[in-house]
Amino acid sequence: MIPITTLNGKKVALFGLGGSGFATARALVAGGADVTAWDDNPDSVAKAAAEGIAVADLRTIDWNGLSVFVLSPGVPLTHPKPHWTVDLAHAAGVEIIGDVELFVRERRAFAPDCPFIAITGTNGKSTTTALIAHILQSSGRDTQLGGNIGTAVLTLDPPKAGRFYVVECSSYQIDLAPTLNPSAGILLNLTPDHLDRHGTMQHYADIKERLVAGSDVAVVGVDDSYSSLIADRIERAGIKVMRISRRHPLANGLYAEGSRIIQASNAAAAEIADLDGIQTLRGGHNAQNAAAAIAACLAVGVSAEEIRAGLKSFPGLKHRMQPVGKRGRVVFVNDSKATNADAAAPALSSYENIYWIAGGLPKEGGITSLAPLFPRISKAYLIGEAAPAFAATLGDQVPYEISGTLERAVAHAAADADRDEHESAAVMLSPACASFDQYKNFEVRGDAFVSHVAAIDGVTMLIGSAAGGK
Ligand code: ADP
Repeated sequence: MIPITTLNGKKVALFGLGGSGFATARALVAGGADVTAWDDNPDSVAKAAAEGIAVADLRTIDWNGLSVFVLSPGVPLTHPKPHWTVDLAHAAGVEIIGDVELFVRERRAFAPDCPFIAITGTNGKSTTTALIAHILQSSGRDTQLGGNIGTAVLTLDPPKAGRFYVVECSSYQIDLAPTLNPSAGILLNLTPDHLDRHGTMQHYADIKERLVAGSDVAVVGVDDSYSSLIADRIERAGIKVMRISRRHPLANGLYAEGSRIIQASNAAAAEIADLDGIQTLRGGHNAQNAAAAIAACLAVGVSAEEIRAGLKSFPGLKHRMQPVGKRGRVVFVNDSKATNADAAAPALSSYENIYWIAGGLPKEGGITSLAPLFPRISKAYLIGEAAPAFAATLGDQVPYEISGTLERAVAHAAADADRDEHESAAVMLSPACASFDQYKNFEVRGDAFVSHVAAIDGVTMLIGSAAGGK
């Protein structure tokens, strides 16, 4: 835990006692702050009270004596409308911050030079975060991994010289971190997302920009126009920018050329890594993630050799296009996180001769947008409520069966893949659907896939029970 000593003896109110909010309340108490916490959920309030955290309905407290108000990133700050606590804080002129800001202040007070890499973007945040942490860890560095990826940042070990922090930041967390100042900040890409919570695309982009604008070195993916404009703007403001592209060569920066990542500086270009054969980093989207990870690692002093070794041994993230098992020419891939068609597209683009397990609770639009990728699919195995609609979309373009359950789908796909004549085949769960009709969440669905794969005769599992994390 990182005790928040910078608010020792100060009055603090906190709203939101979910996972990270609860950890934040404990860190504040441990550092000596006088905290009053609240949540709309009585169970969360009771749990906090049982831990010795002072709780009170924040409508009933005196806001004028507060040093700060700490808000959980899951609670609306601006859109669709400010939460009632936000209105109370504004009325009393109390600053509103989140857990990442508390971390930043603690680092500034005790170990301002300890390397801190912050990662944001619309897609690929967790993969890039996990990859960077893996490169640092496997090169023997003291590494702390947290933030939006699932481990609340204030549950990490406290900042000290020589300790590396790798922190995934959602736009909500950035919005609550006004003095975010990573040594290396990454903005991977920007496409419309969460606009219900941010109002407009421009507002969403403005929030993401703050992470790189406050960085010593900014790593920015320049394949979309919003990010590209941000790179230009912060460079003009004096920030050192390392540009990344998965689509085109750059005179200065890192870009992908097939599976090779090229580092260019003043038009002199040389290969820094080759992703060929690294199963966990297949696909153009992962070239973007890897290039960004490489740039950030270089920025904090990791050698090219250490980076190449880390890339090679990256175990991948659970449920995200993760190769989990192998039988002869057939690889089994868990992409359970792909809960809509857009999210399934990268996995379908990254393999050929695919035995595709899809379905669950359908999302609007179904799988019609995936039609250009249908030629890569040898057969589809449809499960859950979406099966009839997906069957109708596949029509006579792709052979399919309605398997019903995941277990049957895995068994049938494995048998069919085994029989075909191709050099390689992939049995892939990339459902393009939510899981809730048959499973508690996408993680449980992915774990079920892994156990069905493990039950197949002759399969070699590629992951240990804890592989991949998250
Ligand atoms: P996030 O943490 O931003 O949600 P993840 O790393 O968890 O991203 O990846 C989630 C899914 O997003 C992946 O399974 C893949 O389909 C897609 N994805 C990953 N990286 C990228 C990228 N750089 N560009 C576009 N899509 C990506």
